[in-house]
Amino acid sequence: MYPDAAPALEFRSPYELLVAVILSAQCTDERVNKVTKPLFARCNTPEAMLALSQEELERYIFSCGFYHNKAKHILSASRDIVEKFGGEVPSTLEELRTLAGVGRKTANVVYAVAFHGDAIAVDTHVFRVANRLGLARGRTPEQVERGLCAAIPRELWSEAHHWLIFHGRRVCHSQRPACGECPLAPLCGYASGDGNK
Ligand code: SF4
Repeated sequence: MYPDAAPALEFRSPYELLVAVILSAQCTDERVNKVTKPLFARCNTPEAMLALSQEELERYIFSCGFYHNKAKHILSASRDIVEKFGGEVPSTLEELRTLAGVGRKTANVVYAVAFHGDAIAVDTHVFRVANRLGLARGRTPEQVERGLCAAIPRELWSEAHHWLIFHGRRVCHSQRPACGECPLAPLCGYASGDGNK
């Protein structure tokens, strides 16, 4: 269904991706791309980012929402990258997860997309679609991540993450899933009424 599935965030380095993913929480990728263009033109390294004050950074990212916390997270992660990793975004999942301000989902996305690592990042779309389909059921993103990793061959993890996001955005909407048009309906627990919302 989604041969064109790919990250919609624009980035040219692991650091730019990391910042874009932090900004993308509760915000559309289109909005993030608009915001990062002027931001990355001025600072696209952790050192350059740390030269901004929290207030300056907030002015750049204001329209992404939750700008106060997002600015804090971007500056904390940048500080860690400079102080603990010599200015380079670390390339292992374990190290990425140690960065201040970087949650599990963000670490997984950066690991899978920037470093072509095997990981499935569970965002709101992945969480909803996996539960509805019955592909992986769980009450927390971590439970769903474990279930998806068990259900999907490792070499497809990164692509499957994008497939589930595309399906959530285009068909399996949060409020009104378009089950009548969904080719997966014959396979879907939600459509067959087994109670998974
Ligand atoms: S059948 Fe409905 S609930 Fe199931 S995946 Fe398709 S749109 Fe989502």
